[in-house]
Amino acid sequence: MGNVRPDVGAIKLMHELSVCQSMLRQVNEIARQHNAWHVSRVQVGIGVLSGVEPDLLKQVFPVASAGTLAEGAQLSIETLPVCVRCESCGVESVVEANKLVCSACGDWHTQLVSGNEMLLDSIEIESGRGHARV
Ligand SMILES: [Zn+2]
Repeated sequence: MGNVRPDVGAIKLMHELSVCQSMLRQVNEIARQHNAWHVSRVQVGIGVLSGVEPDLLKQVFPVASAGTLAEGAQLSIETLPVCVRCESCGVESVVEANKLVCSACGDWHTQLVSGNEMLLDSIEIESGRGHARV
């Protein structure tokens, strides 16, 4: 009896693909609102704890954007740091993804402020009115 092992790499890619597709829906929506005929650049921010891998996102972007206004666009990814707020002293600190402790007092009773999000930062479009960043 052989074990059938799921292809973990493919499953991970499927995740990035669906993340990318929902991001592109947003991009195309914004582009249409500005009467753009092409999106030349897409800038996103990805939190370290978001579960989205920048490299995989770059890999699936050309596939996901094919046939949309963002086809051929340059994808820029900024990694967003993890930030926590301390429940003891209230200080917000930027921390390592695997060490969510307050940098002021060392307490580990902290709340995640940011770092698990994926944000569409800006896009650059071409329209009848030229090149614009929106
Ligand atoms: Zn603290």
